[in-house]
Amino acid sequence: MSKAGVNKASAAKAKVYSGGCLCGAVRFEAIGLAGKPHTCSCRMCQRHTGALTAAWVEFPSERVTWTGPGGAPAVYRPSDYSSRAFCPACGSSFGAVDDAPVVALLLGVFDKPGATELMPTGHSFKGGRPKWWHVEAKAD
Ligand SMILES: [Zn+2]
Ligand SMILES: [Zn+2]
Repeated sequence: MSKAGVNKASAAKAKVYSGGCLCGAVRFEAIGLAGKPHTCSCRMCQRHTGALTAAWVEFPSERVTWTGPGGAPAVYRPSDYSSRAFCPACGSSFGAVDDAPVVALLLGVFDKPGATELMPTGHSFKGGRPKWWHVEAKAD
């Protein structure tokens, strides 16, 4: 009985994040915690997003559900170790969705990207950004 109580408490605490693409065909719900909030300025992220720096968070894949009418996003696999997902209708970028056991989502597609717990704590491939481009990260 006490065990069930604990499970219920942790389930109630988990935050549900939602988001979607420009056209609304691809939408998701992800159950927190959002892991490894970080930014990345590698060339792959830059080309995938069109932005100089991408902001990412990760969820275990079983915690992410594709809820829009278009189902899961389309996937392009530019390397052996990483995929990039996008809406086939409007082209919006989602991140990396088939690298089990993790779904890594770009913050820009979240309905509320400004949540403080989503603020990046690190910056990968910092050297890939132009010197005039400033990115703020929270101290770990
Ligand atoms: Zn779309
Ligand atoms: Zn990157």
